Amino acid sequence: MSENSDGVAQVALFKGVGMPFELCEVPITNTANTVLVKVSLATICGSDLHTVSGRRGAEVPCVLGHEVIGTVADRTDICSVDGKPLGIGDRIAWSLTTSCGGCHYCENKNLPQKCQTMFKYGHAQGVGENVLTGGFATHIKLRKGTTIYHIPDSINDAEAVPINCALSTVVNGLQQIGTRSGETAVIHGAGMLGLYAACFLREEGYKVVAIVDKNESRLQIAKQFGATHTFNADTVSTEEIGTILKETTHGYGVDLGVEVSGAPSALPNLCGWLTIGGRCVTLGYVYPLDSVPLNLHQLVTKCISLKGVHNYHPHVLKSALSFIENNRMKYPFSELIGQTYPLSKINAAFEAAFRQDTIRVAICP
Ligand SMILES: [Zn+2]
Ligand SMILES: [Zn+2]
Repeated sequence: MSENSDGVAQVALFKGVGMPFELCEVPITNTANTVLVKVSLATICGSDLHTVSGRRGAEVPCVLGHEVIGTVADRTDICSVDGKPLGIGDRIAWSLTTSCGGCHYCENKNLPQKCQTMFKYGHAQGVGENVLTGGFATHIKLRKGTTIYHIPDSINDAEAVPINCALSTVVNGLQQIGTRSGETAVIHGAGMLGLYAACFLREEGYKVVAIVDKNESRLQIAKQFGATHTFNADTVSTEEIGTILKETTHGYGVDLGVEVSGAPSALPNLCGWLTIGGRCVTLGYVYPLDSVPLNLHQLVTKCISLKGVHNYHPHVLKSALSFIENNRMKYPFSELIGQTYPLSKINAAFEAAFRQDTIRVAICP
């Protein structure tokens, strides 16, 4: 048993909209059927902001934070998904969701990320011994059914931390809609997911990768991540963007649309910019919103394939780790992590994240 097993962990409790995070200490109890992890670094994801602002409901109290990596802190019988033992000190990344492997969605739909007994880290009510469930803490406890991988030594913590949410979600979504070398794409949203989508598509052989956002500094960063065209939706109209995209695609329109902004206008705009026979994947509407004015006539007459994707198949995490390992010298992934705050300053960290000065704000316990 390590020194941690009988120690205490510190967690930042989210207690409701408009209330500050509350730091508290909880005793650590661990068994061989769980994996106790010492958190190395966590980042504030857009979903965390949705929860804190009340756009998305949460059962409180709750330890938020699901973009997180750490090191194994105690002995465990659980192995990585590759069958390797998890030794104390090993750097690991894990799937956002657990799955049982036997329910209707796991077995018949190949959607283990929607498992009927699924548990989602950083989204659960934390009470009693089950409070170590989120990344904004010194420790997190992983359950059976979690897909765990060792992080390759070549990937540093800043590069690794958003892999298990932002990058895996993007890779899964793009694999689901299908990518084809030589195609053209337009991405709505130049946040973390949009930037990952841009470089992923370039590596898949996309010639044109346009990206749309209202934040000019994000659009500048997008150029470093392979975007060939950037459009500021505050200064260029939807129609003008459509005209330029048509000119860029020999008059046809774009082959692939990627919605990662969650903006109500995103999906209608993307469908308008697509070619006949175009495809569109939507990932950003992770909070309930009023009906979107989608032109269904256009959807039908342009023969558009539209696919919604939520969470990701846990095995995608391996592709995501490989993508960073293979492309880390080409794109400045670690620069996407801006200021890093200690856990004790989590309220200031969230204020910074809401200001959106940087792509990601990190918390290092
Ligand atoms: Zn997330
Ligand atoms: Zn299941």
